[in-house]
Amino acid sequence: MKKKRSVRRVNSVTSSRKEPLESLLRKDGLRLDGRGLDDLRPIRMEVGVLDNADGSAYIEHGRNKIVAAVYGPRELHPKHLALPDKALVRCEYRMATFSVEERKSPAPGRREVELSKVIRESLEPAIFVYKYPRATIDIFIQILQADGGTRCAGVTAAALALADAGVPMRDLVVGCAVGKIEGKVAVDLSDVEDKLGDGDMPIALMPTKKVITLLQCDGNLTPEEFKQALEKGIVACEKIYEMQRDVLIERYSKVRDEVTEEQREEEE
Ligand code: UDP
Repeated sequence: MKKKRSVRRVNSVTSSRKEPLESLLRKDGLRLDGRGLDDLRPIRMEVGVLDNADGSAYIEHGRNKIVAAVYGPRELHPKHLALPDKALVRCEYRMATFSVEERKSPAPGRREVELSKVIRESLEPAIFVYKYPRATIDIFIQILQADGGTRCAGVTAAALALADAGVPMRDLVVGCAVGKIEGKVAVDLSDVEDKLGDGDMPIALMPTKKVITLLQCDGNLTPEEFKQALEKGIVACEKIYEMQRDVLIERYSKVRDEVTEEQREEEE
């Protein structure tokens, strides 16, 4: 059952308005931020943003700001955790104390432990873990600013960071939440829609393999709404995948150009 959180707090998170919201849809049928029901929030991604990680990525998804860092495959300590036949994938999802309106305790809460687990489980199927027995791949996701759908945007960023680290993968992974607001299925819920809407369904997809690696549902959806939400979620993930692919191509064609330039200078 979807628990609705405090309306006053939600308003203070999303705007300076303190009066309760009457509806999540405007009179013209658009959402409060001006989007149609099937529209994504603006998304910006960058790869290779950290010098000290093997791979890294940054994503702005709506007002979410998230950085992901990957280390490995590397030797695992303590050694007794090692798996004899595959790499151990570890994931740590953390929200910065300043990422939400009400200061978040720096100690990892139950929600962060749960999200770390579901994010790891949504990424691991894409990684060729059997290539690296006894090793580890560590994924860190830091939420700098939260605006609903952080686990999904975290998955998208972490998959880019894994690719940036050169971890062999069968596919990228993309995350996007779908949900129900005012009785209608809507794509990519914002913080206020997540909290005051009728349902929230985060999805992660391996887009070229068409494999769903994360599917959660908080709220009540009829079988017909569930089917519609799933279809719209997959389309949304495919759109985000195009952006992921473009940003990787852009980054690595730049790297290739730089390497070629260096080689040319050495030859001269
Ligand atoms: N949130 C918050 N305080 C918290 C945890 C979450 O304000 O301690 C907000 C944050 O904007 C987050 C949203 O609630 O994105 C929805 O959280 P949820 O647990 O549904 O996960 P998410 O949608 O971010 O994956």
